[in-house]
Amino acid sequence: MLNESRPTWAEIHLDKLGFNFQSAKSFIGNDIRYMAVVKADAYGHGAIKCAERLEQEGADWFGVALPEEGVELRKNGIKKPILSFGFYEGQEPLVLENRLTPVIFRLELAKKIDRAAKERGLTADVHIKVDTGMNRVGVRCDEFKDFVEKLKEFRHLRVDGIMTHFANADDLAQNEFTNLQIKRFNESVEILREKGFQPNFVDLANSPGAVAHPASRGNMVRLGGILYGLGGDVLPENIEKPELKAVMSLHSKIALLKKVPKGETLGYSRTFLTERNSLIATIPIGYHDGYPRGLSNCGKVIINKSLAPVAGRVSMDWTILDVTDVKNVKVGDEVILIGECGDLSIKAEDLARQTKTISYEITCGLNQRVRKVYRD
Ligand SMILES: *Cc1c(COP(=O)(O)O)cnc(C)c1O
Repeated sequence: MLNESRPTWAEIHLDKLGFNFQSAKSFIGNDIRYMAVVKADAYGHGAIKCAERLEQEGADWFGVALPEEGVELRKNGIKKPILSFGFYEGQEPLVLENRLTPVIFRLELAKKIDRAAKERGLTADVHIKVDTGMNRVGVRCDEFKDFVEKLKEFRHLRVDGIMTHFANADDLAQNEFTNLQIKRFNESVEILREKGFQPNFVDLANSPGAVAHPASRGNMVRLGGILYGLGGDVLPENIEKPELKAVMSLHSKIALLKKVPKGETLGYSRTFLTERNSLIATIPIGYHDGYPRGLSNCGKVIINKSLAPVAGRVSMDWTILDVTDVKNVKVGDEVILIGECGDLSIKAEDLARQTKTISYEITCGLNQRVRKVYRD
């Protein structure tokens, strides 16, 4: 079994996940439903454990990207409704047999689900996605009337929800566009109702929508990032927001310490030159694990309550640290790559900024090789 002994692990603080859910809920309001988005293995935090905790905390729905992700939740006893944001030809049996609700944005797929439901003597619940300006998935709102008209042919489908997705809800300078998306969505809901459909769920908002745009809350919000405490780079600055705590921390231990004299180079491409007699530590984590190579010569870690820089290139399985200034450092000492110690803190948002991405990509990017330890 992989990972049983290599001392590199992520800690997933389920108590903080619960805290964030309640914090978001009391900020956004009690009068709507909450979908917890646990796609991509709960943004790298572990979908099953996170969904179990969120179900206990009162999540009304779960959101996944693929039917397979929903099946994994069902196999592990998750009972609440699961929305699959995508599904593909041939997956109709998987969707129906696991009581997943697919998002529909193509008539061909609606037809397939309809037929599969008919064969089983069922009515399949679906949610319809309208594209109100993102121009990614969804039925374009200017083609929506036509789409809805054709949808009526499918007698074994029930339109349980209608949704859209924001392109830029995290950027207040783009409020005009977000408001346009909200307006187009509301018009689409009207069209759907005029054609005789009665959706139970009307939802637009992801984390930044739900926090920063009260008019986008509909009767359900779909929260991902803020549940995991990743608010620092996906919520607008300078607005009121719920208190959030980082759910994930990332750890390793020093595998080797060596003295390297002044004037030598470290690692691939020899990008770090020792400018003094140095104490150099190696830790067993690299870019395959999801510790980005972009942190070469610029990342920082916490060891024994002090910060130490990444020295040289991050490689596939190893990262080199300059620990010359760390007191009492020994082989086996714990290294915090994401997390807090005393006044020191390194967030996924910090790694993201340094590598020109968003925190989601950092936590999602952790490989299966990184063991997860759940704490409560
Ligand atoms: C990922 C996703 C969300 C959640 O977005 P966050 O910014 O993480 O809250 C909501 N809705 C859809 C359709 C998504 O794909």
